[in-house]
Amino acid sequence: MSEELGVTVKKSENFSEWYTQVVKKAELADIRFNVKGFLVHMPWSVRAMKLMYRAFEEELEKRGHQPLMLPSVIPESNFEKEKEHAEFKAEVFWITEVGSERRKLEERLALRPTSETAFYQMYSLWVRSWRDLPMKRYQSCQVWRHETKATRPFIRGREFWWIEAHDAFATREEAEAQVKEDAEITERVMHKLFGIPFLFFQRPEHDKFQGAVHTYAADTVMPDGKVLQLPSTHFLGQNFARAFNIKFVDKEGEERHVWQTCYGPAIWRIFGAIVAIHGDDKGLILPPEVAPIQAIVVPIFFKGTEREVLKKARAIERAIVGGGVRAKVDVREEYTPGWKYNYWELKGTPLRIEIGPRDVEKGQVVLVRRDTGDKINVEDEELLKKIGKVLGDIQSNLIRRADEFFEMKRSKAKNMKELKTCLKKKGGLVRVNWCGEEGCADLIKSETGGGEIKGTLFGKDEKPSGKCVRCGKRAKQVVYVGKMY
Ligand SMILES: [Zn+2]
Repeated sequence: MSEELGVTVKKSENFSEWYTQVVKKAELADIRFNVKGFLVHMPWSVRAMKLMYRAFEEELEKRGHQPLMLPSVIPESNFEKEKEHAEFKAEVFWITEVGSERRKLEERLALRPTSETAFYQMYSLWVRSWRDLPMKRYQSCQVWRHETKATRPFIRGREFWWIEAHDAFATREEAEAQVKEDAEITERVMHKLFGIPFLFFQRPEHDKFQGAVHTYAADTVMPDGKVLQLPSTHFLGQNFARAFNIKFVDKEGEERHVWQTCYGPAIWRIFGAIVAIHGDDKGLILPPEVAPIQAIVVPIFFKGTEREVLKKARAIERAIVGGGVRAKVDVREEYTPGWKYNYWELKGTPLRIEIGPRDVEKGQVVLVRRDTGDKINVEDEELLKKIGKVLGDIQSNLIRRADEFFEMKRSKAKNMKELKTCLKKKGGLVRVNWCGEEGCADLIKSETGGGEIKGTLFGKDEKPSGKCVRCGKRAKQVVYVGKMY
């Protein structure tokens, strides 16, 4: 526990410093591990991320995915098989030697930067007939990439934690339908449970994943107006199926290549978005769905009443835990109730339950909401029902607030002057018309100081009604521009 408990800067005035302080003071991560770009994850963030993993895994499994655990090393030759994907080699950490004699390995091994080339090596052995399809598998794991940009806890690092789902189908239509399903999973889990709003884009050609036919990604907007890429889905067509020889015999006895997609919700980065988007000047605010402790019970002791108050606090903890709420009594005697309030507010615990001697007498407790600060007196008998209701209210309030902020960060621009003003004044995502030329995209990026074309809205088919925002030629697409993390 750091000496100075509270966050000392306002989120709206210095978001970057606010974020750094919250990560440290709410004890989410320790950045002092002695390898650059690698992070020590502390219990509070680990417990939250485990809940996040479970939410995504349940949704994936409901939709026919099964879990696997693959090796963390991939031989270099696997990367060579798909020509475009081989570009990934530039970001890879390589294992080249073993043992105290430093014997050279015959083939370099990559610490997986992503696992297409591990999964598909195995899919080529497992897929034989149409009966084996669709094959939908995922793994929850960490990956390593040698990032050269500045690292930031939970946003960009050389090691990060995610889920990767890899699906193989008999037909193109099924693979395309999977892209839609991935967008739905993202909506159900990331938006409805974690409260992170997003737009789901099809990325422009020049911004595709190496080896993909199309890349799709969910982008959100951070409090400083910069855009953060969250789960992405890649429609791989038959590129990897050809490279890895993944074939099946169809019902007519014909041998065919499978169609593939992959989906990568980066739990680590989504957690960073939760921290950034929901938090306030007092620290973190966790949506109830991901809060390791949803209700913290704080007994307020006065001389002579300790036993009764603690007894009631424990009884309430038992009752609400029994009712399915993650709750705990803060029994530490060395801290005052006021200090504990600040401590749990900093940690983002959605609900606080205060119990003093008078509450024991009256047969009630006081509930305090982290998101609004509202205090509610509740009679003991009503407590469990009320907690369920208030946690639900907090959840929907956080989603509503995040949605409103996201909407506020969307704008439209007809020309470069407007685009520059929008990006400078509020950041976010700016809707523009674009001719589709990569050259224009490059000019937009350099002239706006980093505004990138994030793509067209998935499933919307928006028709451009004006000219390209940069060159004035006929526009082919409606796209969204934002400055990225
Ligand atoms: Zn143009």
